[in-house]
Amino acid sequence: MKKNDSNIKKAIKYLNNNECIAIPTETVYGLAGNAYSDKAVSRVYKIKKRPKNNPLIVHYYKLKDLKKDCETDDTFIRLYKKFCPGPISFVLKLKKKSKISKIITNNSNSIAVRFPSHPLSRKLLKKIDYPLAAPSANISSSISPVSKQDVVDEFGHKLKFILDGGSSKIGLESTIINLIGKPYILRLGGVNSKLILKFINPLKNKNKKKIKIKVPGTSKLHYSPGIPVRLNAKKNHQNEAYILIKKRKKFDKNHFYLSKTSNLKEAAKNLYRVLRIIKKNGYKKIAIEKIPNINIGEAINDRIARASKK
Ligand code: AMP
Ligand code: MG
Repeated sequence: MKKNDSNIKKAIKYLNNNECIAIPTETVYGLAGNAYSDKAVSRVYKIKKRPKNNPLIVHYYKLKDLKKDCETDDTFIRLYKKFCPGPISFVLKLKKKSKISKIITNNSNSIAVRFPSHPLSRKLLKKIDYPLAAPSANISSSISPVSKQDVVDEFGHKLKFILDGGSSKIGLESTIINLIGKPYILRLGGVNSKLILKFINPLKNKNKKKIKIKVPGTSKLHYSPGIPVRLNAKKNHQNEAYILIKKRKKFDKNHFYLSKTSNLKEAAKNLYRVLRIIKKNGYKKIAIEKIPNINIGEAINDRIARASKK
């Protein structure tokens, strides 16, 4: 416990100096900087090699702080009460008097925000008087990191500090819902989209059908392991790594398992870790078995579909 406290102190020192550091969250590790500081935010973009037109998600400790920067409405409050802190991000209207760096939002008047639930990131956020801009701690377009070692593999010694919080519990990014105008899901993720829809308008459930899932057509090469990925594969070709949802009895050195017993939560947690192991082992191709498209399987399928884009 003491070690965590001294590491949080170190983290704060760097953040107060406008440095960016890696922090653990329940989704994936984030590359964090003071969201009120242009200098810190520019560093996040530079280290990550993130295109300037791809806005960052800003992380808060409590609702009161978020309200200084964003407009909120009943729908947001309902979702906040149900799902926060947790793996859900909201796109909201930015207040005119907000101190958020314009670089984060690419000068637009909307902002993506979230409340991470990882105890260390919460402890850190509680102790600072600014929110943290924190995209995933990886070079833009590659696989998100889910452990301290993954962050080291991404950035080597370019980062001054990594706050070690063990491996990320969820292992996939947050679900993003746009709440400006008619709500729609921008990215599938840690919270199941159908569950969110239930809470958007509990009185008018017939509204359900009207809520769209618009998966943004951002960079084709998102979440890419950097080698070809073949989906819905019934078997693997020679020298192809084969990712399976469930452990098989017969040993095969080219087989990699996402879970012991087809558990989708476990599979989500292991996906990025397994992709990294396969790359480290020098495979040139990956085949993935069909993944059930239910619950968090939806987000797994979204990520592997993008990983398979050429
Ligand atoms: P990442 O930080 O890599 O987890 O991803 C952030 C994603 O959030 C972006 O790629 C956008 O899809 C979305 N996002 C962030 N800010 C906004 C915004 N102001 N409006 C719409 N989408 C946003
Ligand atoms: Mg990312």
